[in-house]
Amino acid sequence: MAPATLRKAELHASVGDPVLDTMNFLNEITHRYPRAVSFAPGRPYDGFFDVEDIFRHVRRYLDHLAERGATPAEIRDTLFQYGPTGGQIRELIAASLREDEDTDVRPGAVVVTVGCQEAIFLTLRALLAGPQDALLVSSPCYVGITGAARLLGVEPTAVPEGRDGFRCADLEAALAAEKARGRRPRAFYVVPDHSNPSGATMSTAERHALLDLADREDFLVLEDSPYRLVSPGRRLPTLKSLDRDRRVVHLGSYSKTLFPGARVGFAVADQIVVAEDGRQGLLADELVKIKSMVTVNTSPLSQAAVAGMLLAADGRASEWNTETAAYYGEAMRATLKRLDECFPQPGREALGVRWNEPAGGFFLTLDVPFPADNAALARSAEDHGVIWTPMSYFYPQGGGEHSIRLSVSYLTQADITEGIARLARFITAEAARSR
Ligand code: PMP
Repeated sequence: MAPATLRKAELHASVGDPVLDTMNFLNEITHRYPRAVSFAPGRPYDGFFDVEDIFRHVRRYLDHLAERGATPAEIRDTLFQYGPTGGQIRELIAASLREDEDTDVRPGAVVVTVGCQEAIFLTLRALLAGPQDALLVSSPCYVGITGAARLLGVEPTAVPEGRDGFRCADLEAALAAEKARGRRPRAFYVVPDHSNPSGATMSTAERHALLDLADREDFLVLEDSPYRLVSPGRRLPTLKSLDRDRRVVHLGSYSKTLFPGARVGFAVADQIVVAEDGRQGLLADELVKIKSMVTVNTSPLSQAAVAGMLLAADGRASEWNTETAAYYGEAMRATLKRLDECFPQPGREALGVRWNEPAGGFFLTLDVPFPADNAALARSAEDHGVIWTPMSYFYPQGGGEHSIRLSVSYLTQADITEGIARLARFITAEAARSR
């Protein structure tokens, strides 16, 4: 008998979406050129991880449960059994938000998820009820929001970032355009601190203006900020900490701050939901229902390891990251300094190269005078031994064709020095080629 054969065109449209393929192409290139210096992966630096630590973290959490009166049988079940869908460590996460982020929410408003990615997915599923509901995204944006929206059959509306990041006036115009088309703007997704992919950070004034706008226009802000605690220097307040009217759903991740392999994130969803019969609950309760049909619960073992890390730092994820934030800050500074050396003024202008200067985070944007597409990336890897990410991957409705994303988190200083020199040779060659 012939094996079952399916037509791709008859599967859900998202499987044919290039966004769901972008990372495959990068992985393939990385695999094909193992000696290339890669500014592509947005991963934490491996040097911070030690296998033995995981056992200590889990042990610390179990000791904590015992100190709080849990019996051996209860502790056993905590690890071995299915856990509560909303999460085992909601109290610890709520406490850590109080310590780190000046955010006071009840544990019941927190949903522990399989990474921030699941928090994104659950939130979109709950909020986008029909074709009239619009999701707006600050663009360029993280592929995970575009991809999750498309899995749900939703096309996000791009709100273009300026050179310095998000501008409220552009969002206001986009909201008006959506309304004029008869649509209901439901949510606006943004990475306010050291954004992936651009590296931009929203000013405090824009944060206040955004919350005022959300109130006036009646939409929710989806705040995703995985890079703030791994960045050096003074942190601006989160949107959630400034939120007086429960306009913000905060999408949390421990992937950059604690460890990505745990796959633990969370949503803070304290919005009030009123049922037809007048009964009230929280948006978090609805997310929990959806989660019960997606991943059932977040791995108890992973939650235990994350909890142990939080406990070791008196509940502060920020404490864990004093050293990492300094490390990534150094990597960013080294990259910017090296770019300066390799593209001295005034030649830089004539060549048509420029970049932004993020104070933290993993990413920066580099504008180049030629189409930075997959073909250029393949030449860069093959001829010059350097890999980067085309910025166009991150524009849901087109754009970024002449920009690249550089990620600095995964490389050593020596790699950065050599990698930027290679990148400069590639850009010079490519600029000559396109002339
Ligand atoms: N949001 C942004 C902006 C990210 O950059 C990432 C990871 N690259 C995520 C969410 C996903 O986080 P997690 O690993 O917690 O699912």
